[in-house]
Amino acid sequence: MMRLLMFAALLVTVHCKELFKGHQVLQIIPKNDAQLAFLKDLEDVLEFELDFWKGVTAVSCPVHVRAPFQFLQLLKRMLKRKDISYVTMIDDLQAVLDEEQKEIELFARSLKPKNTDSFNYSRYHKLSEIYSFQDMLVAENPNLVSKIVIGQSYEARPLSVLKFSTGGTNRRAIWIDTGIHAREWITQASGIWFAKKIVTDYGRDPILTDILNGMDILLEIVTNPDGYEYTHSTNRLWRKSRKPNPRSNCIGVDLNRNWDSGFGGPGASSNPCSETYHGPRAHSESEVKSIVDFVKTHGNIKAFISIHAYSQLLLYPYGHTRNPAKDQTELDSLAQKAVKDLASLYGTRYRYGSIISTIYQASGGSIDWAYDQGIKYSYTFELRDTGRHGFLLPSSQIIPTSEETWLALEAIMDRTLKDPF
Ligand SMILES: [Zn+2]
Repeated sequence: MMRLLMFAALLVTVHCKELFKGHQVLQIIPKNDAQLAFLKDLEDVLEFELDFWKGVTAVSCPVHVRAPFQFLQLLKRMLKRKDISYVTMIDDLQAVLDEEQKEIELFARSLKPKNTDSFNYSRYHKLSEIYSFQDMLVAENPNLVSKIVIGQSYEARPLSVLKFSTGGTNRRAIWIDTGIHAREWITQASGIWFAKKIVTDYGRDPILTDILNGMDILLEIVTNPDGYEYTHSTNRLWRKSRKPNPRSNCIGVDLNRNWDSGFGGPGASSNPCSETYHGPRAHSESEVKSIVDFVKTHGNIKAFISIHAYSQLLLYPYGHTRNPAKDQTELDSLAQKAVKDLASLYGTRYRYGSIISTIYQASGGSIDWAYDQGIKYSYTFELRDTGRHGFLLPSSQIIPTSEETWLALEAIMDRTLKDPF
């Protein structure tokens, strides 16, 4: 009996990963206002454990939802009853995750890279591998890159920012963050690629060389380290931070609803079990507060770019209000140029516009806050794809996605450099 119990305990510790057996991701397109209203109501029914990968916005706009096995048939019956059509985007979610995991484990067993030249940029990496990449990059380029620790996550991991600088004191700077939402793996992977691109191209690419001769670039690759670690150890589809919420069994805060910009308004949830829970108060989360303090103390950040996935969008403020940003005309024309540059490489099409007019109302987001701090060039990217793979973008797309996104980033950084203010 004792032996059996020990074996059972072993099984529990070994198989601690959350499984998604029988889960499917559906694409649903509401055809009229009644169908739209029905889907909106469904978004608020947390008991069904539906995970909206792409939220409900407007008639004719696709909604992507992951449905767990136990509610899948019920959901399909309800949709049928309401005459709402849907297609299955991911038929067997666990099979896709198993494939991804197999690749990561295979790679983790291979020889550790000795330097950033032999680092594999076309794979997804564990947190420890990203940390060692950052340290190697700093060690190899001491005159160009340094690492600043701006704070600590809830689980006491360092919040580190790579600073690319060719000198000067308190130069104007570009802020770029990736991975504030843990499961958006293409963003952290692109962040790694951008870091290597900057050190490789400085002195070679005239646009980047001019940018770095006049400004610093600040890059936080793992903005939500606890969440990222959790996507590897336990739940690949985790989005939020990992801080427990008092008086609730649900963990974590949506770090992109926690900023002091229309905090707690529409497009954020007060329910700790929601994927868009805004937290108890603005800047309550150390992952957010550390950036807020850093940006305020720095005082000379001129562009604030926050990178998410997925949907292929380039967005500017506002998300929490319909009032247009006072620089809307310029932000819009620069976005148009950036997405044109992006598309020039592989033909990837992006839509652009203000958050509220392009996707949905979202309160407490980072770029609304940054813009209200006087940082004119505040943008959010939603990288590839438009839903075929969603958050589970195949690793074969990491390099092409990074390459095309870099062209758009360069357009924004170049304009920032040339801005007289
Ligand atoms: Zn996101």
